[in-house]
Amino acid sequence: MEGSKPGILYLLKLGELTLKGGNKANFEMILKRNLQDMLRGNGAHIQATYGRYYIRTPAGGEARVEDVLRRLIGISGWAKARITEKTIEAICAACVDEGKVFIEEGIGSFKINARRTDKSFPLDSYNIACRAGDAVTEAIPELRVDVRHPQGAIAVEIREKAYIYGFGHKGLGGLPVKTAGRGLLLLSGGIDSPVAGYMMASRGMKIDAVYFHAYPYTSEEARQKAVRLAETVGRFSMGIRLYTVGYTAVQMRIKEAAPKAWATVLLRMAMMEGADSIAKLRRSKCLITGESLSQVASQTVENITCTQSRLEIPVLRPLIGMHKEAIIRKAEEIGTYETSILPYQDCCVLFSPPHPILRGDPVEANRLYESLELEKLIETAIGESVIEKCGFPTPWEGNTQ
Ligand code: ATP
Ligand code: MG
Repeated sequence: MEGSKPGILYLLKLGELTLKGGNKANFEMILKRNLQDMLRGNGAHIQATYGRYYIRTPAGGEARVEDVLRRLIGISGWAKARITEKTIEAICAACVDEGKVFIEEGIGSFKINARRTDKSFPLDSYNIACRAGDAVTEAIPELRVDVRHPQGAIAVEIREKAYIYGFGHKGLGGLPVKTAGRGLLLLSGGIDSPVAGYMMASRGMKIDAVYFHAYPYTSEEARQKAVRLAETVGRFSMGIRLYTVGYTAVQMRIKEAAPKAWATVLLRMAMMEGADSIAKLRRSKCLITGESLSQVASQTVENITCTQSRLEIPVLRPLIGMHKEAIIRKAEEIGTYETSILPYQDCCVLFSPPHPILRGDPVEANRLYESLELEKLIETAIGESVIEKCGFPTPWEGNTQ
């Protein structure tokens, strides 16, 4: 840490990344690039050494840096170093401030790790730790000292100035976006699919998305909802390229020519086929859906077998074993829930039959599907799809002074 330069210093702790053996250097390079893209224009300087990252930003740049750190996939925690004068009073006050952050983040026990590089400082590291520890427990009685297994540690380093930091802020964890290939998310306006996209992004995947629209049966507001969801998830995932595909003709054909009970399963099969051709164009390695086992009739294991039966590309379903409450909690955490519950219906609701088939047979599904002769309609729809870039990092134009 080069403490002599002016400005504000942030420290980042890498998460699971530290476990990645031979790939580690590559993962770290990608994380650094993501961080640079997200901070572009802010005047921040990023330095990476031995599994620690430092960001130095000009005064005034804190809000931007902290916003980025809350959205950066691949770090387990971050700290803003408090830089103070070398007096024990100033050091104790900074430790107390850090203790307050611990409480906000649900950390209940702590210890002080003191290091004295400047030996002219009158207290040795043991005494610094004692004084600072006492100051914290006195000011914040609910925070306990635990030197063996503390939930959080406050570091005090005495150099040309005193540096105090605590990693009180939890990071999102996961693996940096762009370390796991590209996937195509089937994004509806519902609660589940944005969460599914976020979860794959947090395993390192770069996400594109496709939204199937049935205008005028579904409204422009419903489409805007999908765009907003892509923007919200895109802010975590280094942007999302969203394909909007008009599927009205496909849906009408299914509605007119297929047995009613099969409508939803057949529509899902048509969506999968359309998505498959976009995935080929984009060299995506998988499709991603928000399906969760037995949540609705089209998500029984038999019907899922039908919907994927025409595909070679794998379909990843990160929510398959999750309960609805847990999915909702995640949606709230990432900020998609409020948008997802807006009342505009997506296409499937309007076309869903009152008594859908529960355990479709894939052979029958394919026989029906082929009799509809949807290829041309799907091809045209994909050819006319509209592409929007949602949530990509944008250069910072604010005042950093
Ligand atoms: P969601 O909340 O994600 O809409 P859901 O519980 O409503 O999910 P379904 O409507 O059965 O479930 O959809 C299952 C999955 O199919 C969705 O999670 C999504 O991945 C995909 N999907 C559904 N409708 C669309 C659409 N209009 N465009 C793109 N993908 C869709
Ligand atoms: Mg839905």
